[in-house]
Amino acid sequence: MQLVHNATQNVDLTAIVSEGKSYTYQQLLDASSTFASLLLNDTTDLNEARVAFMVAPGFDYVRVQWGIWRAGGVAVPLALSYPLPSLRYVIEDTGAQLIVADQTFAPLLAPLAEEKGCRLIVLGEEGTVITKSLPELTPSRRAMILYTSGTTNLPKGVVTTHANLEAQISTLVNVWQWSSSDHILCVLPLHHVHGIINVICCALWSGATVEFMPHFSAEGIFNNFQRGQINVFMAVPTIYFKLIAYWESLPDEQRQQITETLSKFRLMVSGSAALPVSVMEKWKTVSGHTLLERYGMTEIGMGISNPYDDERRVGYIGKPLPGVSVRLVDENNVEVADGLPGEIQIKGATVFLEYWNRSEATQKAFTDDGWFQTGDIAVVEDGYYRMLGRDSIDIIKSGGYKISALEIEEVLRTHSAISDCSVVGIPNEEWGELVAAVLILTDKTVSPEQISSWLRERMPAYKVPRQYRVTDDLPRNAMGKVTKNDLKPLFVTA
Ligand code: ATP
Ligand code: MG
Repeated sequence: MQLVHNATQNVDLTAIVSEGKSYTYQQLLDASSTFASLLLNDTTDLNEARVAFMVAPGFDYVRVQWGIWRAGGVAVPLALSYPLPSLRYVIEDTGAQLIVADQTFAPLLAPLAEEKGCRLIVLGEEGTVITKSLPELTPSRRAMILYTSGTTNLPKGVVTTHANLEAQISTLVNVWQWSSSDHILCVLPLHHVHGIINVICCALWSGATVEFMPHFSAEGIFNNFQRGQINVFMAVPTIYFKLIAYWESLPDEQRQQITETLSKFRLMVSGSAALPVSVMEKWKTVSGHTLLERYGMTEIGMGISNPYDDERRVGYIGKPLPGVSVRLVDENNVEVADGLPGEIQIKGATVFLEYWNRSEATQKAFTDDGWFQTGDIAVVEDGYYRMLGRDSIDIIKSGGYKISALEIEEVLRTHSAISDCSVVGIPNEEWGELVAAVLILTDKTVSPEQISSWLRERMPAYKVPRQYRVTDDLPRNAMGKVTKNDLKPLFVTA
């Protein structure tokens, strides 16, 4: 395992800071090999047994994850925010025989472990462990099952091998120029590729330091930044949105101090959902940084990214990463010309092995010649990819047109009375689908008619929403993505 090999080159450096304590790479190596020994119990190799674990972000999370890998198991991180039925779904779906929980989550998981006849390991109650020799891991072994965010459908278990993970990590380490002098603050959930690969694994691959924050708060994040050690930060757009709002509420002097600190950062990244241009621009005022926006998926790791050194284009997801083949195709899998919309398809060592237990879905996800079909529609302009959205949900098919919800959302957000919005297609007999918008208003006196006529000056009439709803909040999943299927019932179909 390359992560372990790299760690042995950095034994004295600080790997993790959690709950005010620092841990060296040597401590991580020791603790994860002890945990692997515990997992091995009376076997010599877990042989790809699935191990589900529910552990708060911190040193324990990493020692458990590495322990599972080092014992030859498949790591299945459970989302801390999942309600019991979702946890049961993942445990049943993966057929996990081993469950690991920290003290906080043990009471929740104990009945489930009993129901399923699983061995439950509670951290802190591990007792004395007899050291075992650990198995050799070939790169083709299954390493992890991550569930997709469930934005469009029931979450699917995505299986990645050690070779996939290593390709995903090494690609980013190289292009984003990670080094052992980096120090990243981790505020993302750790059941998803963004937090696991881009944040933790890239840092630990490079001998850098990962600092964990127990609870999310904008104030806490800024306080942490002000201590002056963090130089890399990655988050989803909603987190940047919250940080901006908090910064705007501060007195001038404090704002300036924060801006000064942030301007010294090496790298700030956004991804997992479309980054509104307004957020990108405001973050530039807050931090002096043009956020590096990139595009990725549970199935592929990161695929397309704005450059580290070169121009980061606002409103674009960037260019294909080195080693990742990307093409845009029409419905017949024929490549489209530059400037025309097409589905993003991906090939390369970073692409996942299979959907767990869903051979039909796996087969459907790939073309005959091995391209993974992302279901995302984009267009290339001047070498840079621009996301138009998910084919199934953001591309509204109305009266023969294919309309990008993301483009309309971008325009709506520039209206002074709109703080956020989401555009969806609602079924309509005559048109197929109608464009509809859900708005969060800062000025509730503005009427739908006023917004429509304002939009008609900015876009063709067929793109202008026919129905509006006003709300105080948009429904989002754990990754901060708007769950548009929950918005559609707000509209009475015509
Ligand atoms: P499910 O597959 O269960 O519906 P999901 O697709 O949201 O959920 P993830 O794998 O977490 O699950 O998310 C990948 C998707 O996120 C991509 O297919 C794309 O639609 C979206 N995405 C990622 N990065 C960006 C970005 N920079 N801009 C716009 N969309 C993005
Ligand atoms: Mg998906």
